[in-house]
Amino acid sequence: SKPIVAIVGRPNVGKSTIFNYIGRNRLSIVEDIPGVTRDRIYMDAEWLGRNFTMIDTGGIEFESNDKILTAMRNQAKLAIDEADMIMFIVDGKTGLTSADNEVAVILRNTRKPVLLVVNKIDNMKNEADIYEFYNLGLGDPIAISATNALNIGDMLDRVIEHL
Ligand code: GDP
Ligand code: MG
Repeated sequence: SKPIVAIVGRPNVGKSTIFNYIGRNRLSIVEDIPGVTRDRIYMDAEWLGRNFTMIDTGGIEFESNDKILTAMRNQAKLAIDEADMIMFIVDGKTGLTSADNEVAVILRNTRKPVLLVVNKIDNMKNEADIYEFYNLGLGDPIAISATNALNIGDMLDRVIEHL
């Protein structure tokens, strides 16, 4: 079967925007896994002839604030279990947050490949905003803008390198 790519990151960083941009047809929604996340959406994707399935581990958006960190840890663990590789999305406008650090701790402890994606770099003249994310210890981040469709191809090149 096709390799699975999970998209993780804190609420509002642009996970669903990226997912919907790359994806083609929505496969299924898995709802209500208690204590994990409210829903996971599976979507077919293809880049340069390579087919894969993406999971948007959404749902955290609907948790109360005090539950967000727990939900994010669970989301990261679920992604590690289920995926062949993980796209960890952070927000280049907001900058590095403590929640990003918490998730990075979990992701550094997996052997599965992790691609660190700094979204919302809407103008590549601000590409230097990605440098602080080297501190996450997850390798070279890539700058993209999901809304302005910048660098998405380069990002997908790096995704399929790992599949
Ligand atoms: P999620 O909670 O991580 O799934 O984030 P969403 O995909 O729902 O996006 C959250 C907000 O960020 C929405 O208002 C998006 O339009 C916005 N957003 C997503 N990608 C970008 C981007 O590349 N640049 C900017 N400026 N906003 C973005
Ligand atoms: Mg979402």
